[in-house]
Amino acid sequence: MPAIYLDHHATTPVDPRVLEAMLPYFTAKPGNPASRSHSFGWEADRAVARARQRIAALAGAAEREIVFTSGATESNNLALKGAAEAYRRRGNHLVTMATEHKAVLDTVHHLEHSGFRVTVLPPQPDGLLDLARLRAAILPETVLVSVMYANNEIGTIQPVREIGEICRQTGVLFHCDAAQAFGKIPVDVEAAHIDLLSVSAHKMYGPKGAGALYVRGRNPRVELMAQIHGGGHESGLRSGTLNVPGIVGFGEACAIAAQEMAGEAVRIAALRDSLLRQLEANLETGAGPLHMNGTMHMNGAMHINGTMHINGTMHINGTMAHRLPGNLNVSFVGVDGDALLTGIPQIAVSAGSACGSGYDSSYVLEALGLPPALLQCPVRFGIGRSNTQAEIDCAASRVAAAVRELRTLSPVL
Ligand SMILES: *Cc1c(COP(=O)(O)O)cnc(C)c1O
Repeated sequence: MPAIYLDHHATTPVDPRVLEAMLPYFTAKPGNPASRSHSFGWEADRAVARARQRIAALAGAAEREIVFTSGATESNNLALKGAAEAYRRRGNHLVTMATEHKAVLDTVHHLEHSGFRVTVLPPQPDGLLDLARLRAAILPETVLVSVMYANNEIGTIQPVREIGEICRQTGVLFHCDAAQAFGKIPVDVEAAHIDLLSVSAHKMYGPKGAGALYVRGRNPRVELMAQIHGGGHESGLRSGTLNVPGIVGFGEACAIAAQEMAGEAVRIAALRDSLLRQLEANLETGAGPLHMNGTMHMNGAMHINGTMHINGTMHINGTMAHRLPGNLNVSFVGVDGDALLTGIPQIAVSAGSACGSGYDSSYVLEALGLPPALLQCPVRFGIGRSNTQAEIDCAASRVAAAVRELRTLSPVL
């Protein structure tokens, strides 16, 4: 059996139409868009302009507000360091969340070393930001709030419009890491009052190594300090020869998403719901409710002392009500997560993000306040464009079989 790819949050395959659009820019059309004196340069410049327009259109932005980067990690660095430095005279306080991607968290921690103060808000147990908490965290010296659009582990979609509204009212910049949301669900920088938006091509069927940062040009015009200096490309904000094939591919991926995103979201959500139902059905029949003895303390919404009863054999991490269509993140109670992934080598899923290693590092699930019994066994399914119902059926039965087998070995039960 060929392996089944269910790890679309880590990266996506390049859509064949995207590859087709990119190929000429490696060979027959080799120009550097900065070459102003011949047709090869003009041709590359036109291709970049067209891509810029397609990316801007998908975000509800203007072309001149798009800065090309190497990906969302670089976009996050440029947004956070660039704004922190540019607005330093106004204040030195930043607000973000514990469930952000490391490209945000490591960057704000770096800024702490150069004198910024950072408030890291916890999520509610369902993964969402408490808006009252955000309001309370914004101080006179706050310059920027950074909250992601959708989470890369649990797929939860933050209330970005409300967050943008709060930032607008308090005169604070709103940076949003939309690497997981862009191209999957509608993103509109005007409707959500987003001032800085990070996006990445390889999370939406474009190539690796291409990304962009939207920088609001008016109401207000956002100032950034460049982080990479050189020839003054991208209005001086990001020097370096543009990755023309990557940018062309990114543009094509955005044009395809604009056409197909709505229908695809429905199809992929149906696959995700089918996966969940099949897992539940297969596991409920295989084992009864679990009883764990001993004392457990859980942070967040619940505190259960004494004997803990976990109903059912699977726990869904993060709210299902506000979630990316292709995401499912569940903890299989009483199963060792490493052993589970080893037991399903044909099913490409992950324990958490692609960035941590093994099961010791889902800081996202820890931030939700999950008890240890649920932290050791999470599985992230990321369903995408190429997946079929047959693949979902196969994955569900293989995963359920592996879980049942491991449970018969588990000392806990
Ligand atoms: C993948 C990802 C990133 C990093 O994007 P790259 O383009 O790989 O640098 C940042 N934030 C989120 C939410 C992501 O999912």
